[in-house]
Amino acid sequence: MAKKILVLEGDGVGKEVIKSAIKILEFIQKKLKLKIELEYDYIGGECIDRFGVAIKEETIKKAKKYGIVLLGAVGGYKWEKSKVKPEEGLLKLRKEMGVYANIRPIHSFFNRNIDIVFVRELTGGIYFGKPRKRWIKNNRTFVIDTLKYSDKEIERVVRVAFEIARNRKKFLVSVDKANVLESSRLWREIVNKISEEYKDVKVEHHLVDSFAMNLILKPEYFDVVVTENLFGDILTDEAAVLVGSLGLLPSASLAFKKEKVIGLYEPIHGSAPDIAGKNIANPIGAILSVALMFKYSLKRDDIYELIYQAVQKTLEKGYKTFDLDKNNYLQTDKFTDKIIENMNVN
Ligand code: NAD
Repeated sequence: MAKKILVLEGDGVGKEVIKSAIKILEFIQKKLKLKIELEYDYIGGECIDRFGVAIKEETIKKAKKYGIVLLGAVGGYKWEKSKVKPEEGLLKLRKEMGVYANIRPIHSFFNRNIDIVFVRELTGGIYFGKPRKRWIKNNRTFVIDTLKYSDKEIERVVRVAFEIARNRKKFLVSVDKANVLESSRLWREIVNKISEEYKDVKVEHHLVDSFAMNLILKPEYFDVVVTENLFGDILTDEAAVLVGSLGLLPSASLAFKKEKVIGLYEPIHGSAPDIAGKNIANPIGAILSVALMFKYSLKRDDIYELIYQAVQKTLEKGYKTFDLDKNNYLQTDKFTDKIIENMNVN
């Protein structure tokens, strides 16, 4: 039976980079005679314009049923003041799919020594904890956000990180703030407990402040890094600048349910309204998101490698996109064709 994939292009450059990613996917599908069926739907600003909501319930149902979603990006100037925000669709989708482990490979195609995989907890922590409110008392304004985790939430994401570390350099760095936060102390205890099952993996605990500094000073030191939601949000954006452009980076948000891997695959960048519609967006983040989809959801490491090698070769030959070299670049569609030309598939 054909594998069904839900494709949500979204807004702005989301549409352009997903077109490239699908071109690569369809090329591989044809060459390797894979049984894959694509179904398109809406999310974000365009969905608001068409249906008044940032994502439809039936789209969420399909996402859960198929378990594989390829997404572009959402948002844009047009919806900045709208009552319903395009980003609500994305947050709802992530939550409903229950994808708790956000995997972000930070791989530099230009400096071979930077090759880190971040594993960020995605569905817990301070972004979701209750109470979250604002109130006024005696003419003073008070606010509260809640950082809450259960041992189960921590365990499942830490386990994903150990598995990834085991298949790479067997070195895991866990980032927390255990000198101050109770949640971090539990985090650290759980990492230590699970490390008993992964004795082949070396573990280091780093405090988030010194880690943020060392990530810039010696990025080559790190291999797999696991951390909670808020720290991960900030650190993965920090790490993104190490490789040259936001447009280069993919992500996979995963949930492991017995043998099945539920996956939401998307480039890390937004809808880039400043360059949308010009055919100059870098499609690599979206294309590598397809590579991650093959690796995790379809268990095809060989196709993951094939795509990475083709991107590497294309860049090595000197072909660039606008964000990488403003004086000498190919447009998005032409650059995508070059990647296909450099793909070693028979
Ligand atoms: P952005 O990632 O869209 O853009 C930041 C900068 O990076 C811009 O200068 C942009 O031109 C550049 N850039 C981004 N992707 C690129 C690509 N593929 N190729 C070349 N250059 C690229 O972030 P922003 O400007 O802060 O946000 C724009 C809109 O996107 C907002 O509405 C925001 O809410 C939304 N957003 C969506 C997501 C998502 O869908 N996951 C993520 C971040 C921001």
